[in-house]
Amino acid sequence: MNPYQWLEKSLQTIHRANWYRSVTPITSFPGANIEIEGKSLINFASNDYLGLAGDFRLIKAAVQATQEFGTGSTGSRLLSGHRELHQELETAIASLKQTEAALVFSSGYLANLGTITAIVNNRDLILGDQYNHSSLKNGAKLSGATILEYSHCNIEYLQKQLQQNRHQYRRCLIITDSIFSMDGDACPLPQLLSLAKKFDCMLLVDEAHATGIIGATGAGLVEYFDCSNQPLIMIGTLSKALGSLGGYVAGSKMLIDFLRNRAPTWIYTTGLSPADAAAALEAVKIVQTEPQRREKLWHNVNYVKDKLSALKLFPSESPIICLGVKTAEESLILAKKLKKDRIFAPAIRPPTVPTSRLRFSIMATHTEKHLQQLINAVKKH
Ligand SMILES: *Cc1c(COP(=O)(O)O)cnc(C)c1O
Repeated sequence: MNPYQWLEKSLQTIHRANWYRSVTPITSFPGANIEIEGKSLINFASNDYLGLAGDFRLIKAAVQATQEFGTGSTGSRLLSGHRELHQELETAIASLKQTEAALVFSSGYLANLGTITAIVNNRDLILGDQYNHSSLKNGAKLSGATILEYSHCNIEYLQKQLQQNRHQYRRCLIITDSIFSMDGDACPLPQLLSLAKKFDCMLLVDEAHATGIIGATGAGLVEYFDCSNQPLIMIGTLSKALGSLGGYVAGSKMLIDFLRNRAPTWIYTTGLSPADAAAALEAVKIVQTEPQRREKLWHNVNYVKDKLSALKLFPSESPIICLGVKTAEESLILAKKLKKDRIFAPAIRPPTVPTSRLRFSIMATHTEKHLQQLINAVKKH
């Protein structure tokens, strides 16, 4: 008897559905041009929207912090893992987000798990968009609250669910991506806020794909909609436009104080490394002082959307541009063809998303030539 025999069968099933995934190493510096298996490719698969992961100032900050404070933070924040760097980073994030306070986690995923499980439990109700990121969905499950999903960005549907169910629960939490990670569209934030107010709900918005790139100072979709002073819980990551690693929660002093006492994924895990914290801190400063990076990014995004407007693109309010493809198999074939034309872009398939697509991420550091090559290759296939 072999208790692990089922693994082989399960893997075969995954293969048969064309759902199988594996990793490919990138052997070069991060950026618009990368090398994979000895081949030079143009990178349309990166979350490094502003090109900061390879910025010499972030590298210098990370190296300096490592030399000064070592490679690891050696403990949880409440015991031996807290450094002044963490405090500076949290202050910088709160200032970017225009909130009273912020708290950094080891990843955005952990920020969502920790926050959701801390603020609701089995006496409470969570309402979430059906296209929310895995970390929001799993955070909701882990909390033990009753979960209702509303169809994507459907405010009327959400309102109906609130009318029918809100009164049966103690607290209610609405959770949503701000920019949907696998689709690229934006949530209707002002409408969500007014429903939250009307039905006495907390509203958690995950700005992972908006921080650094949307809003006048790069604070995200909340800033874009002029909602920074609203009673929101803002989550995000240090690992996308900020080019580092880690996650954060920004909100009221009281919320952050509470999370420091009750968020298990913050309390029982090691503090962010000095290098990651220092790089993220440098990135926040750059985001606030170099709007030209955002301008270049949006110029690039609009250029590509315009040139590909005749194709079946998903509605998008972000640098994430998706091209619909009928089947998972077709998406894999198209990704392969594009790779032959030096375009690196992932096929996104079930179970991550309900329908298959090619997903292109535009960066501020793409040149017009890079974009033209993408446009030509996509039109050809
Ligand atoms: C990427 C992402 C996360 C996870 O952030 P990490 O820091 O990579 O763990 C959370 N939420 C959304 C919407 C994301 O796109």
